[in-house]
Amino acid sequence: MGKNLSTKFGTKAVHAGVNPDPTTGAIMTPIYQTSTYVQRSPGDHKGFEYSRTQNPTRSALQSSIAALENARYGLCFGSGLAAIDAVIKLLEPGDEVITGDDLYGGTYRIFTKIFAKYGIKFNFISLEDVSNIEKHITSQTKLIWIETPTNPMMNIIDIKGAAAIAKKHKVMLGVDNTFATPYLQNPLDLGADLVMHSVTKYLSGHSDVVMGALAMNDDKLAEDLAFIQKSCGAICGPQDAFLVLRGIKTLHLRMQRHCENGEKVAKYLANHPKVGKVYWPGFEGHPNHRIAKSQMRGFGSMISFVFKEDDQRQAFRVMEKLKLFALAESLGGVESLSNHPATMTHGAVPREERMKIGLLDSLIRISVGIEDIEDLIEDLEQALA
Ligand SMILES: *Cc1c(COP(=O)(O)O)cnc(C)c1O
Repeated sequence: MGKNLSTKFGTKAVHAGVNPDPTTGAIMTPIYQTSTYVQRSPGDHKGFEYSRTQNPTRSALQSSIAALENARYGLCFGSGLAAIDAVIKLLEPGDEVITGDDLYGGTYRIFTKIFAKYGIKFNFISLEDVSNIEKHITSQTKLIWIETPTNPMMNIIDIKGAAAIAKKHKVMLGVDNTFATPYLQNPLDLGADLVMHSVTKYLSGHSDVVMGALAMNDDKLAEDLAFIQKSCGAICGPQDAFLVLRGIKTLHLRMQRHCENGEKVAKYLANHPKVGKVYWPGFEGHPNHRIAKSQMRGFGSMISFVFKEDDQRQAFRVMEKLKLFALAESLGGVESLSNHPATMTHGAVPREERMKIGLLDSLIRISVGIEDIEDLIEDLEQALA
């Protein structure tokens, strides 16, 4: 049924999961806007019974994302957090999770405000050096959950190192690969058991969809997560699946431009007299640059920076003056965005906690889009003036 597919990224991005529609030959998978499927006789159907369990548009997208992550299975959800929700539902009361102390705010919130009350224990530790994980593993540890690069400090976590520890202790390793995308990093190839995406960001790429995905190789893990997907029902709709199938076809082209623009903007900011530290894993001075170089194929277009004086008003003035870098939550779309984590994405994190990880009041996070670089630099220049 599938095409004889190349293992090269661009070809997979264009073709994986998408086959001509059997009834019309339509080259794009139709939006199967249907809740149910007619059966000839009870149980005599074409593999589709009810759209919470299976929908052909969603199936095409799940195969596409699985192919990009070199995975055997893919599952799509109504949001990135719905995907994380499904992962934690693999656990039982008393189980423990080891995770980073520098996580996406929504992930921190679902762990601490939703699942902690079901008796699951979360250890938030520094993962700058992954050997730290071993000190926290107990007989109850069932999952190690990492994000790399992290949001918004752009820390890099050693996936291979974490995978070796996970294997030794027979603990599952899950990686939130949202910032890197499968174009830059494939956690399963580095030994992770599970990879997660906020598809909302680069995979969709056009700021018009909220969606999440998981990809994995293990049959049992895939079966258990598909069971949670259909039993809890946090699926994505067929329209959104179609939009993401369309978005993924240009993922490699978008990412090339994101990376080129990201590098130029990072270097511009690093040389600006008003700017203090710039957080971007492509700099040789980044504490885990060597790991970034070994596990990523490029450094992406997410950049954070602070001012020489940690003055929130100065950061606000710059964000108000930016024209192309629209001030908004989210990231990874074709358009450049700016964000003030201390009051926006990470507003729920107490100030002392923020200060510990360097998330200062003047920190601005930018998602560099695919516009012309001269215009992006000019916009930053006028806003920083
Ligand atoms: C946005 C984001 C999420 C949550 O995804 P949603 O699609 O917004 O639910 C999780 N992890 C990271 C790193 C993110 O950036």
